[in-house]
Amino acid sequence: FTITNPYLQGVYDGVCKKNSHEPEFLQAVGEVLETLQPVFNQKPELAKMGIIDRMVEPERSLLFRVSWVDDKGQVQVNRGYRVQFSTAIGPSKGGLRFHPSVNLSIIKFLGFEQVFKNSLTGLPMGGGKGGSDFDPKGKSSNEVMRFCQSFMTELQRHIGPDTDVPAGDIGVGAREIGYLFGQYKRIRNEFNGVLTGKGLTYGGSLVRTEATGYGLCYFADEMMKAAGKSFQGQSVVISGSGNVAIYANQKATQLGGKVIAMSDSNGYIVDENGIDYKVIQEIKEVKRARIKTYLDYVPTAKYVEGCQGIWTVPCGIALPCATQNELPLEGAKALVEHGCFAVAEGANMPSTPEAVAWFQEHGVLFAPAKASNAGGVATSGLEMSQNSMRLSWSFDEVDQKLHGIMTNIYHNAAKAAEEYGMPGNLVAGANIAGFMKVADAMIWQGVSY
Ligand code: GLU
Repeated sequence: FTITNPYLQGVYDGVCKKNSHEPEFLQAVGEVLETLQPVFNQKPELAKMGIIDRMVEPERSLLFRVSWVDDKGQVQVNRGYRVQFSTAIGPSKGGLRFHPSVNLSIIKFLGFEQVFKNSLTGLPMGGGKGGSDFDPKGKSSNEVMRFCQSFMTELQRHIGPDTDVPAGDIGVGAREIGYLFGQYKRIRNEFNGVLTGKGLTYGGSLVRTEATGYGLCYFADEMMKAAGKSFQGQSVVISGSGNVAIYANQKATQLGGKVIAMSDSNGYIVDENGIDYKVIQEIKEVKRARIKTYLDYVPTAKYVEGCQGIWTVPCGIALPCATQNELPLEGAKALVEHGCFAVAEGANMPSTPEAVAWFQEHGVLFAPAKASNAGGVATSGLEMSQNSMRLSWSFDEVDQKLHGIMTNIYHNAAKAAEEYGMPGNLVAGANIAGFMKVADAMIWQGVSY
């Protein structure tokens, strides 16, 4: 990262020294500091108030043991995490990720990004993230339930509807949220909005399931509209096949695009006739099988082992919806070479810094995750509102609000980029717009935290 502002360079050096074993966290911080330079050049007083020094240190980080009994009667031990990064503008809010790769660096990068993302939604939510290195893959539903119960037995003392409100992320979907909520209620004897992404029969919101994927396409659509482009008639490549990817497929298709490739961690499928999101949903959420199974449904499709090659599939629009750093420089080069003109991130930090730079240098419309995937947490915010009011809105009502929020995020990010002399740079615009609200709230509240 090129940081020429001496104050921000000092902050970055300090963060690197303190967190030297946390590459993902340093990557997220480096990108934000780089793009905030024009703000600090214009407002040097921010330095004295230690705003960014405070923002790069989580308010509270929790690490805990999660022990549970597997189906064979064997005791298993995993590590649980919850990082409450910032409560400057509201209770900390962010998902839980269950994946063997989870460590403190990954949870901190996600929590840090969440602070800016949640601020961008315009709703009163601070940022946090949590999870475990537990691997749900290959576990029975009973094992998942026992794990979730044990995880919540510890987590419940640290969270609450006005304190910290977790939700899902990779490996945590409707099933896990249900088990977690059940255990919270059992221990605390409180029925409230402590988690979002709940089932519709017990306080969940319509559109929450679809929200990240829908919001991603609403954002991409708005970004393309400003450049006189759209989904209409375009080939779309979507990496991943989880909750974000599935509903990004549905919405991109509704908006006139054709989704020709999707992937999982083993490989990718290509179907030039267009991939029906319902088939992927059945494979991934009902059968809990690998994406290769798509060939049983559409024998004329192609399956390629290894997920990286998906970026070589020619397309106009790419939506990386799998995981962090899944789109490296080589992928960016291949996309640009084959005519891709728009990239919108559905996963968190899926493009490496080199890939982002490549897109920006080659005139690709680029939507950074903290703006373009904010639809999930925005709808979580709407779920919290409905829970507080003890009522529920219709599908159309929530969908319209989500659409409005995504449109606003696009315009706020575009405006901030322009104001600070970087027109079209939504990476900088999103960071600046997200930062401003949190910084202002921190200034008003003094230096007690
Ligand atoms: N995990 C999602 C995200 O990365 C959603 C978080 C939430 O709904 O709290 O934003």
